[in-house]
Amino acid sequence: MKERILGVDVHCVTMGSAVAMGLELLDTPGTHRCYTPNPKLLSMAREDEGLRNILNGADLSLPDGVGVLLAARLTGKSLTERVAGADFALALAKAAGERHKSVYLLGGAPGVAERAGEKLQKACPGLVLAGTADGYFADPQAAADRVRQTGAELVYVCLGCPKQERWIARYGERTGAGLLAGLGGTLDVLAGDIKRAPKPVQRLGLEWLWRALCQPRRMRELWRLPDFLAAAVRERNEGNGREVDRP
Ligand code: UDP
Repeated sequence: MKERILGVDVHCVTMGSAVAMGLELLDTPGTHRCYTPNPKLLSMAREDEGLRNILNGADLSLPDGVGVLLAARLTGKSLTERVAGADFALALAKAAGERHKSVYLLGGAPGVAERAGEKLQKACPGLVLAGTADGYFADPQAAADRVRQTGAELVYVCLGCPKQERWIARYGERTGAGLLAGLGGTLDVLAGDIKRAPKPVQRLGLEWLWRALCQPRRMRELWRLPDFLAAAVRERNEGNGREVDRP
């Protein structure tokens, strides 16, 4: 089941059901796409129809942020729980490892994907590391061809948003992989270069604030938040208006 949040479909999932859907997509013929919308990505999509269409072409769309859950609630909808991209990446890799699937890690500064790969293999017995590459390539098509040569089944695409969503939409099929997931800074987290917020901070729904304090460049992104929530309130009011106008 999906809910449309500010023009973008987001799945109502728990971590468990998201992983189960990811595994199912991996076993279904064809190329599938998973995006992890957070308030930043949803704000961008409000102003960009092309990006909105890309996101709505997802086979799996995970609510990556309490801001998305809050926007859902403000628009009278309900999503089950936050499914953080980095947590999903690890949980899916563990389940994929049990099935001896292969993963390709694309993104981050030089060396990050390799280190993330080493840690992921240790944490996920059975997982095959098909390959790694940094995210600062000159030729995006050649980057997809390099993935294809490895025969990877699963690809973690960590180029930041909206670059990763655009790359997946344009070149995903070319990689020949069964599932590509856009996962932002997940490789930095897996490599141990960026620490997640402590669990109590996560439980309070304040990881966004923690990240802004740890990475000051993120402070600049916070200006989107009030506007994002105001848009959700407007959508609810307009929606209510339409209900009233209906014959
Ligand atoms: N990145 C990349 N290629 C680029 C731009 C960024 O591989 O051209 C990487 C960057 O090194 C970082 C990640 O993408 O590892 C972006 O992380 P961030 O947490 O900022 O993601 P966002 O908030 O944009 O989803």
